[in-house]
Amino acid sequence: MSGLIIAIDGPAAAGKGTLARRLAKHFNLPYLDTGLLYRATGRRVLDHGGDPRDVATAEHAARTLLPVDLERGDLRGPEADKAASAVASIPGVRAALLEFQRDFGAKNGAVLDGRDIGTQVFPNARVKLFVTASAEARGKRRYAELLARGIAADLAEVTDEIIARDEADRNRSAAPLVPAADAITLDTTALDADAAFMTALKMVEHTLS
Ligand code: C5P
Repeated sequence: MSGLIIAIDGPAAAGKGTLARRLAKHFNLPYLDTGLLYRATGRRVLDHGGDPRDVATAEHAARTLLPVDLERGDLRGPEADKAASAVASIPGVRAALLEFQRDFGAKNGAVLDGRDIGTQVFPNARVKLFVTASAEARGKRRYAELLARGIAADLAEVTDEIIARDEADRNRSAAPLVPAADAITLDTTALDADAAFMTALKMVEHTLS
């Protein structure tokens, strides 16, 4: 399926990453987790003691981002989540990261997941999925992920943080989190990873048929 773009958007911890990875494997396409770009940008600002909300500092961090920054071991967790969301609301940061994302998919196609793939990055993507789930289900999943990584966490706090981040992502003026008009919505609240994949695969195959 060379050249195919599958755009996967949705709120935090809805299962986008797992699904995107499996679809990429199935269709033999490269996969890009675009959240990593914002996470790495936020981290670079924090490295220098900066404030991720500061426009000039965040834009500079985005413009000078290197592929190796995406391999850092500290891109997950509450601090990185907040820094990513803060830099992501800055239009100059988004503009600086746009070309990398488009180049990634331009040659051989790709599966990309994020918040604005179907609306801004690849508005002409052949397949667009908007993956969502209830805040409770997403909170529980993120909590389980943290525990599995040996990070102590509180379920209510994790859920509240996810809700706050979604609010910020939905209400920002630069590329807000919103389903593309032609996206198919997949609610994974009652689905495990296998069921979500099978459902998504049917949706994708139907779109391609
Ligand atoms: O997907 P992930 O949770 O790793 O994304 C971290 C943050 O990066 C999001 O909360 C959002 O603010 C930002 N982001 C974005 N656009 C994308 C991907 C991520 O604004 N395409």
